[in-house]
Amino acid sequence: MAVRFDIITIFPGMFSSVVSESIVGRAVKSGLVEINRVDLRDFTEDKHRSVDDRPYGGGPGMVFKPEPVFDAVENVLGEVGSSAEPGIRKIILTPQGRRLDQPLMRELSGESRIVLLCGHYEGFDHRIVEGLGFEEVSIGDYVLSGGELPAMVLIDGVVRLLPGALGHPESSEQESFENGVLDFPQYTRPPEYRGMKVPEVLLSGNHAEIEQWRHERALERTRASRGDLLEKLELQETGQELDNT
Ligand code: SAM
Repeated sequence: MAVRFDIITIFPGMFSSVVSESIVGRAVKSGLVEINRVDLRDFTEDKHRSVDDRPYGGGPGMVFKPEPVFDAVENVLGEVGSSAEPGIRKIILTPQGRRLDQPLMRELSGESRIVLLCGHYEGFDHRIVEGLGFEEVSIGDYVLSGGELPAMVLIDGVVRLLPGALGHPESSEQESFENGVLDFPQYTRPPEYRGMKVPEVLLSGNHAEIEQWRHERALERTRASRGDLLEKLELQETGQELDNT
């Protein structure tokens, strides 16, 4: 199923490499993905094409004004509605949002249209957040200069989950976070490099043993650096057991 992204931004040029290179570029070329960049400054009326103004109450920095943002969103969607429309996800990228993770990426990969609103400066006039009914999404607990890189992260993560986007469809199913754990270590040729050997089991051709080895290494890695993921997994499994009784 094809997905359309509408990106509302003051830096549409930042997306040029993402739409033309690598997996997203290939998906665009093959028609699996459509990316529509909307320049927020096209919805301004003054000669400086200003999209921002000083914050009420004082303080440093500037804030996105509501008028150009509402006009741009209305132009893209036809109307501004806070109600959920099937197949359309409307997202504001902001550090205050729900954390973007693999389950959310999967959820979004089932939509047919995703509208992304990228902020800048100190962020948005809060009437934009309240009045547009967009959901707020953050890519992590840090502050970037704008929503463009977060939007690119989201697009890349969603596109690689679309059937047909990757050379091997199972690639995305075996990756970190898909089964609640991190990916196992991978090796390729040569079998020995600078005294470091590829684990014997991977050269054995015994698929059951290889699977077992990979499973154990994935758990080991997850335990070492992301104990929180294992705790979540254990809780889910306990919940399932309770449900089944
Ligand atoms: N004043 C805001 C705060 O303290 O939360 C930060 C604004 S930031 C400098 C400008 C814009 O970058 C935000 O409006 C948002 O669109 C984007 N942004 C920055 N960090 C982000 C993150 N972690 N996730 C998603 N968007 C982010």
